[in-house]
Amino acid sequence: MEKLYNYIGGKLIDPVSNTWFDNFHPATGTVYSHIPDSDQRDVQLAVDAAEAAFPAWSTLAAEKRSEILSRLSDLIKRDLELLAQAESKDNGKPVSLARIVDIPRAVSNFEFFATAILHFATEAHAMESSAINYTLRQPIGVVGCISPWNLPLYLFSWKIAPALAAGNCVVAKPSEVTPMTAYLLSKLCIEAGMPAGVLNIVHGLGGKAGQAIVEHPKIKAVSFTGGTKTGAGLAATAAPMFKKLSLELGGKNPNIIFADCDFDAMLKTTLQSSFANQGQICLCGSRIFVERPLYEKFRDAFVEKVKQLKPGNPADEGTRMGAVVSQAHMEKVLSYIQLAREEGGTVLCGGERVVLEGELKTGWYIAPTVIEGLAFDCRTNQEEIFGPVVTIMPFDTEEEVLEMANSTVYGLAATVWTQHLTRAHRVANNLQSGIVWINCWLLRDLRTPFGGVKASGVGREGGFEALRFFTEAKNVCVKL
Ligand code: NAD
Repeated sequence: MEKLYNYIGGKLIDPVSNTWFDNFHPATGTVYSHIPDSDQRDVQLAVDAAEAAFPAWSTLAAEKRSEILSRLSDLIKRDLELLAQAESKDNGKPVSLARIVDIPRAVSNFEFFATAILHFATEAHAMESSAINYTLRQPIGVVGCISPWNLPLYLFSWKIAPALAAGNCVVAKPSEVTPMTAYLLSKLCIEAGMPAGVLNIVHGLGGKAGQAIVEHPKIKAVSFTGGTKTGAGLAATAAPMFKKLSLELGGKNPNIIFADCDFDAMLKTTLQSSFANQGQICLCGSRIFVERPLYEKFRDAFVEKVKQLKPGNPADEGTRMGAVVSQAHMEKVLSYIQLAREEGGTVLCGGERVVLEGELKTGWYIAPTVIEGLAFDCRTNQEEIFGPVVTIMPFDTEEEVLEMANSTVYGLAATVWTQHLTRAHRVANNLQSGIVWINCWLLRDLRTPFGGVKASGVGREGGFEALRFFTEAKNVCVKL
């Protein structure tokens, strides 16, 4: 059975403990490879390698760093099919999705920051004729990047690329639930000629390898994407050490549909925003609010479409709905469907585990689920489920829907469907959310600030925001 290795100091190496744990194939629920069970000793090796590489990497001309990142991007593009198959196998997502979303986005992430760094400028502030200030933006040193399982290579590269472009050396940990494409990336780094120690990838459990990254005194900044509870624990460790922190956390995103929307476009996109990647995208709209005159028409048309969305083998070309990522996650999602029933909800479709045939019968599949009849403030509508489950609720006024939409502790993304120009802008203005999509969903321009408010996070990724996070501003004041 295949073993994965840590990538430290430019080499693929065993974990110091010489122990590995199981990596599962969600489509069949079986073990298919082994993951290094790294601990603080491996993190120490990675920090040592990163520290040693930092002086040369941080002073290398931006054009040279850019060249290496571009080469890496080209190699990911070359291996797109192989990486898409690997991502699908590791995560349970349809290979068709990995092929058009996950891997192309990893290509773009490296290419985007390879070029962004060439345009990253610093500021100057003149004090009339008495002095001039200029602000340097210097790389921080060794930084940590920790990512989740839902968009494995996509989110891993979204952190690593700006950190490296800005001149930092990185100790990174992918999710232990989906480590495969990060492992394949480490091989591509070697092929791309990434200098040893510039990027180090340590595999392992969050509470062990991840915690060791957050606790390490020489890791000066941590960029984290994952659950809100994990983020809170991470902040509790890192804040007293005065580390720079970027936290991209959970969500419970509203999808607000007004009666005057373009119905067909809304329906098509709402199907995606509800169930893409089995609903396991932090940006999925899991609470659908529909203006009352449209409610029944929407409900009937939506449920009919959702019933046609059948979970299938993620490796099949035609599959649009794959497996959820793990048994524990499947059980969590099913427990929320049970909670919704207890809270008085009516399951309009789905609502159960799906058992497929043959070797897939032990896989982790859930029928896409639509629930109505729940109060906006019940637990099902307040807590993140992060699976193929949405609730639908009618509303009468703009004020009412804003109150319901803003009622959760989260504030990551929101979607608004209306043809009414001023209302669209007014609602966007009043939503407590870091990102608002009007008449679209997940339309991404990598230059825009990305992140959430409230319990959905602290800080912004994307564009120059990311390069600012991964640098320290130093102001120099010169008396004239
Ligand atoms: P998670 O918090 O369980 O794990 C995320 C990462 O943190 C993993 O690599 C894990 O090993 C690591 N980790 C766990 N405990 C740690 C610790 N004590 N110290 C350091 N690292 C630790 O999250 P998950 O289940 O992998 O991902 C799902 C969550 O991620 C959802 O809540 C989802 O909303 C969120 N998410 C947010 C965004 C966003 O951009 N805001 C994007 C994707 C996913």
